Amino acid sequence: MPLVIPQWAPRAPLEALRLPWLARAGVEVAVLRLDLIDPLVSGNKWFKLVGHLHEAAALGAEGLISLGGAHSNHLHALAAAGRRFGFPTVGLLRGHEQETPTVADLRAFGMQLHWLGYGGYRARHRADFWTPWRERYPHLHTVPEGGGGLLGARGCAALLEMAQAQLASLGWPDYHGWWLAAGTGTTLAGLVLAERGAHPVHGALAVPADHGVAGQVREILGQAGQGDQGYRLVEACRGGFAKVDAELLASMRDMEDESGLPLEPVYTGKALLALRRSVEAGDFVAGTRLLFVHTGGLQGRTAALDPMRICP
Ligand SMILES: *Cc1c(COP(=O)(O)O)cnc(C)c1O
Repeated sequence: MPLVIPQWAPRAPLEALRLPWLARAGVEVAVLRLDLIDPLVSGNKWFKLVGHLHEAAALGAEGLISLGGAHSNHLHALAAAGRRFGFPTVGLLRGHEQETPTVADLRAFGMQLHWLGYGGYRARHRADFWTPWRERYPHLHTVPEGGGGLLGARGCAALLEMAQAQLASLGWPDYHGWWLAAGTGTTLAGLVLAERGAHPVHGALAVPADHGVAGQVREILGQAGQGDQGYRLVEACRGGFAKVDAELLASMRDMEDESGLPLEPVYTGKALLALRRSVEAGDFVAGTRLLFVHTGGLQGRTAALDPMRICP
C-alpha cells in the first residue's frame, strides 16, 4: 500500500520561561515546546523528517528505512511517525544489539531493527552500502542519517511561522533572535533560511567544534542560494557529544526546578546552560527577547543521565 501522509501541521506551544538569571539580566525568553507536539512524535526530528516523508509518498514508496544509534532521536521520530500514520519502518542500528529506552520504543512502535555492528555501520558511506537493503526492502524509501540536508532544513522553516503566530499571546511585539541546540545544524539552517537575515540564530553546539557543523550549515544555505550569514555558533558541548558533567547536571536540575521546563543533558540542557553563561557574561542587553527552541529528546533523558556515563 503506497504511503499516504495526512495533512498534519503540529503546533508547538510558545511559553514564557521564568528563571532568576534571566530576570536579573532583564532578558526575556520564550520556549517553543517541540517536545509537546504529539504524544508519540516529539521534537525537531519530525520537522526534519516531513520533507522526506512527502518525497517517499511522491515516489510511491510504502514506508521508510533509515539508520542511527541506540539512542537516536531521529530513528525514534521515524518509528513514531510510522506508528502514528500506519506505514512500515526499518532501522539499521550502530553496534551490537542492546536495550535502551529508545530501542524499547522503536520495537514498541513496530520498527524492524537490524544491528550492523560498528564496522558494518561505518560502511554506510560506501557506494554499495544500500544495495542489499534496497533488494531486501524494495518498497521502502531511504532517509539519510539524522534526516539532514536541505530537505530536512526546509521542514524546520515551519518553526518560524509557529512562533510568530504566538508572539502576540505573550505580549511580544517582536523578538531579537533565536537560541537552540545544534547537532548537525540542520534545524538551525532551516531557521536561518526562514529568517532571511531578519533575526539572528544562535546555535549552541552539542558536538565538538571540529565536527563540521559550520560546513554543513554553509552547504545547506548555499544549496538554497543563500549566503553564509544570519547565525552564530556557540561552544556548548562541554567536552564531547553526550558527555555529562556534574556542573551540567546540577545546573540542569536547578533550571528544571525553577522553571518547570523538562530538559535532557545531551542537547536542551547544554543549550540552556550555554545561554545562561552568555546572558551572565552580558552578551544581551536588558530588554532583549529571545526564542529558545526546545528540540525534544526527552525520551532519551533516563539513559543520558545514567550514572555510568557521568564524567567528573
Ligand atoms: C537531533 C537533535 C538536535 C540537533 O538537531 P540538528 O538539526 O541536527 O542540529 C537538537 N536537539 C535534540 C533533542 C535532537 O534530538
